[in-house]
Amino acid sequence: MHVSYHPDYVIPLPEGHAFPMRKYPILRERLLAEGLLFEDELHVPGEVEWDTVALAHDASYLDKLRDGTLSEAEQRRIGMPWSPALVRRARLAVQGTIDAALAALDSPERIAANLAGGTHHALPDAGEGYCTLNDVAIATRWLQREGFVSRVLVCDLDVHHGNGTAQIFAGDERVFTFSMHGAKNFPMKKPPSSLDVPLADGVGDAEYLALLAEHLPQAIARAEPELVFFLGGVDVVAGDRFGRLALTEGGLAARDSLVIETVAGMAIPLCLVLSGGYARTAERTAELHASAHREARRWLRARGFR
Ligand SMILES: [Zn+2]
Repeated sequence: MHVSYHPDYVIPLPEGHAFPMRKYPILRERLLAEGLLFEDELHVPGEVEWDTVALAHDASYLDKLRDGTLSEAEQRRIGMPWSPALVRRARLAVQGTIDAALAALDSPERIAANLAGGTHHALPDAGEGYCTLNDVAIATRWLQREGFVSRVLVCDLDVHHGNGTAQIFAGDERVFTFSMHGAKNFPMKKPPSSLDVPLADGVGDAEYLALLAEHLPQAIARAEPELVFFLGGVDVVAGDRFGRLALTEGGLAARDSLVIETVAGMAIPLCLVLSGGYARTAERTAELHASAHREARRWLRARGFR
C-alpha cells in the first residue's frame, strides 16, 4: 500500500499551540512498529505546482500565500502563523494526497494513504481552521483535468463540517461531498454539501454507526464514484478537546472498517487522508489515527496482500 509521508509535514509552532504537530512522525513510527506499514511503502512527495493548486484556489489568495503578504487576520483564520515552512508543508501535503490518489487508482490494492491532508476548511479564497490548502479538492481537480477520473466522492467523517470542500464543489455534479459532523461545532457557517448529516453533541457509537450505515451507501449510489477520499478525522472520539461527540475507540474502529469494507468491497479505489484529531496528547491522537490503517490492513490481508 502506497503511503505518502514527508518529514517536513512537521513545522515549528509557537509554544503552547493547540495543534498536535508531532502526531505525524509519531503516527509513522507507530504504523511501522505495529507492522501496519513497511519502509518500502513510504513515498516522499514533492511540493505541488502552484498551477495545480490554482485549480481549487483563487489567484489572489495564492499570491498572498506565496509572497507572505497575508494579513494578521488571515493568518489568525488559518490558525498558524505564515512562514515559508508553512507554505512548503501545505504544498507537500497536497502532493502527498495526489500521489496517494494516483496509487489508489493504479495499484492492485486499490487503497492508498497520505499521513497528512484532509484539510477541508480551506476555502477558495482563504485558509481556515489549521487548513492552508484544500488537498482533496486540488487533487480531485487535478485528477479530473488529467483524465484519471471524472466522478469522485468525498467521504468526510472529521467531526467538523467540510465547509471548504463543500464550497469549492458547490454545483459540481461530478463531485459528491458527504459530511457527517457536529451540528453546533466549528465552522459556524456550513455551506451545503451534497449530503450533510449533522449530529447533536454527545452522539455515541450506536447512533453514529447507524447513521453512517444508512447514509454511506446512499452517498455512493448517488455519487457513482471512480475514487473515494476518506477524511478519517479522529476528533469524533470522546475526550477530544474540540470534538463534542462520544465515540469509543471501538466505535472509531467500526467506523473506519465500515467505510473501508463498503468502498473497497465495491472495488472502488480509496484514498485515506488524516484530517483532524485533538486528543489530550499527540501520542494519543496518533494512536487513534492508526485505526484507519489497522482496518485497511486487515481488509487487505484478508485478500492476500501483505
Ligand atoms: Zn476536525
